[in-house]
Amino acid sequence: MIRKTRLFTPGPTPLLPAAQFAMAAADIHHRTPEFRALYERVLGQLKVFVSTKKDVLLLASSGTGAMEASVSNLTSPGDRVLVLSAGKFGERWESLAKAFGCQVDLVSVPYGETFSLHAIREALRPDTSAVLVQATESSTGVRHDIKAIAALLKDSASSALLIVDAITGLGTTHLDVDAWGVDVIIGGSQKAVMIPPGLAYLSLSDRAWKATETSKNPRYYFDLRKERKNAQKGESSYTPAVALIAALGAALDYIAAQAGGSQTGGDLAAGRDALIDNAETCAAMTRAAVQALGLKLFAPTAPSAATTAILPPTGVDSGVIVKELKRRFAAIVTNGQGEMKGKIFRIAHIGLFDYMDTIAIIAALEQVAATSLNLPGFAYGKALAAAQQVYAERSAQPSSQPVEALAAV
Ligand SMILES: *Cc1c(COP(=O)(O)O)cnc(C)c1O
Repeated sequence: MIRKTRLFTPGPTPLLPAAQFAMAAADIHHRTPEFRALYERVLGQLKVFVSTKKDVLLLASSGTGAMEASVSNLTSPGDRVLVLSAGKFGERWESLAKAFGCQVDLVSVPYGETFSLHAIREALRPDTSAVLVQATESSTGVRHDIKAIAALLKDSASSALLIVDAITGLGTTHLDVDAWGVDVIIGGSQKAVMIPPGLAYLSLSDRAWKATETSKNPRYYFDLRKERKNAQKGESSYTPAVALIAALGAALDYIAAQAGGSQTGGDLAAGRDALIDNAETCAAMTRAAVQALGLKLFAPTAPSAATTAILPPTGVDSGVIVKELKRRFAAIVTNGQGEMKGKIFRIAHIGLFDYMDTIAIIAALEQVAATSLNLPGFAYGKALAAAQQVYAERSAQPSSQPVEALAAV
């Protein structure tokens, strides 16, 4: 049969066609009223998407650029920071903070797990100036409890800034940034907003803005103070990624339309919530399916809706599953990163994944299981039946998304 290439990866994620068209048409200069209007509109939309009243800044970089900007702008060499690490992206926080001369305390848990609040409380020191964490750890498929961590910082009267890499958390997890007291929230373009890599965005609390004034680190390209001043005039400090910004505007319009409004006028906060529910449903279908097939979840206690990490059967390299899905169905799923390579495979649900995609990857996985996995009690349809059941239950719940599917692409 012919094979259509489909990404099931937690970034880059599948592209929204309307965003691709907007990119192709974005032949405008950035020091013009046309661009300023676009930039101001998109920065305004991002505030709603992120759930903050504070300024959101866009940077021409991958997500790690905004992670670096938050360290370089908010800390000084010698500052004590606490990194909560549960995977490859937690480890990135640790290396980044060390690269900028921070003294790093670590709460580290095995891959596949999340932190106990007790361990975080124990590790906080009176001079801890920042806590760095992921909302969802994409390398292991785990969701961390940002609301509880924020509350813990408030309760313990810590003055530490809470800096959250929500690069795969935004659009897959409810995050009430201002209300919870998250000080920095970071997103990336190649994740829930369905556009190519190349943009990072972040927002800072008033406390975090104060810290940018006292940081002793040198800053130039990623000087957030300068970027904010310019953004408030509808400008970026340097040449912005114009085409990606046009794409982002189109994608946020599409997300707004998921709330049931018109393609241009929908309610973006409600659309974002529908997108989160969508990811939750795809993830719940996938978890039920793989378990019905006889496979085990890598992160059963705190699974994220961004990506599901799955263990191969004992003695099987997960690369076999990744390769077979690609060879037979052109379905691109991700292997484990670093030392998890060969030990897990990951199916993403962040962004533009729908019922049809989810059913298709589950059916393809059944085909691979039939020929390559030798699972006891295997039968076609078991995984699909479990996923169908989850879909039926979730779509019948009034609190979840309406029974009619979200607006079509
Ligand atoms: C994708 C991702 C990043 C950013 O990686 P870049 O390659 O710099 O875009 C950071 N954190 C998490 C949790 C991610 O999933």
